[in-house]
Amino acid sequence: MSRKRISIEPADRVKNLPPYLFATIDRMKEKAVGRGVDLIDLSIGDPDTPTPRHIVERMRKAVKNPQHHQYPSYAGMLSFREAAADWFRKRFNVSLNPGTEILSLIGSKEGIGHLPLAFINPGDVVLVPSPGYPVYPVAALFAGGRSHAMPLLEKNGYLPDLKAIPRGVLKKAKLMFINYPNNPTAAVAGRAFYKELVEFAARHNILVCHDAAYSEIYYDGRKPLSFLQVPGAKSVGIEFHSLSKTYNMAGWRIGFAAGNREAIAGLGRIKTNLDSGIFQAVQEAGIEALKTDDKVLGKIRDMYRERRDVLYEGLTALGLEVRKPVATFYLWAKVPPGFTSTDFTVRLLNKAGVLTTPGNGFGEPGEGYVRFALTVPVRRMKEAVDRIGEAL
Ligand SMILES: *Cc1c(COP(=O)(O)O)cnc(C)c1O
Repeated sequence: MSRKRISIEPADRVKNLPPYLFATIDRMKEKAVGRGVDLIDLSIGDPDTPTPRHIVERMRKAVKNPQHHQYPSYAGMLSFREAAADWFRKRFNVSLNPGTEILSLIGSKEGIGHLPLAFINPGDVVLVPSPGYPVYPVAALFAGGRSHAMPLLEKNGYLPDLKAIPRGVLKKAKLMFINYPNNPTAAVAGRAFYKELVEFAARHNILVCHDAAYSEIYYDGRKPLSFLQVPGAKSVGIEFHSLSKTYNMAGWRIGFAAGNREAIAGLGRIKTNLDSGIFQAVQEAGIEALKTDDKVLGKIRDMYRERRDVLYEGLTALGLEVRKPVATFYLWAKVPPGFTSTDFTVRLLNKAGVLTTPGNGFGEPGEGYVRFALTVPVRRMKEAVDRIGEAL
């Protein structure tokens, strides 16, 4: 019998993955925890409170139904897509055909990651925001395409400057990702930007993919818009929605895409060949989630708002330059003069036991910033502010 070991060489697409910029920080975090540091982790964009009870209850009942133990349908249960359409109409006053304009996703990350496989050929360009969610450029790479970074700068309100995209890039651009309310900058986009974007996309034949994962995490009654509210948006784009952040359901893996029917059909064809849909009991829980009384969500928003106020006021009093977010559960803060993003993150970790995310990890234009997540209780948030004060 041959005992020769084969050489298992990773594919180029894996070898060509961009360096994981959080690796150093992860190692330092492990060391700190190993030393017994009482770490306050403000680096994680994962809701820390449980899924509302009525959603869990619906799941408990649905899991006993043997019909749900079989393969789900590829496009998702029509009843879930109808619930998504109802939610969209109530929330944004946008009508969507649940049969052709909505697709269920195993979390929005899954849809974002797969979409370029449906539309990108080698050499095609995908426009991605930077700083931004790392999945956008990686999804472009996995599909054989190239990504072109659109810097999100403070002076532009963290919106991409569409006029700054070079002509040569535009010729090859086929797809654009945008994300508002934005992770990591917490910026929101207004109607004027979406209007400009729809015109731009139509002129240059670019499919717009709007990641709206944080559309329901907002403060002071300032509800973010859907990109699909702008006339013509459905002709040029789709929007990704997630139940993870809104309903504290990150572990359940459920979301949906909505909008342009060709884009929905293309993504659906990829998924039909790769996955077998969402566990139907989870879809039933999703239907329940989408019907959640706004009072329940109001309480979740109030909780984040209280944390936001503590952190914003605390950091501002310490002399840090921070934007007060009107949406998302992140705070985007400038690092003090003389620090890089990494320096400052390391300083807070080692001197205060507070972990943040260095802005450069989201792309080079994020250098000079750190991101704080509002995902710890307000008592711990106060302690974080005290400790940062002592460390500075
Ligand atoms: C959390 C997050 C997602 C992914 O959400 P899932 O639906 O859980 O996959 C997508 N985009 C951004 C910007 C996020 O922060």
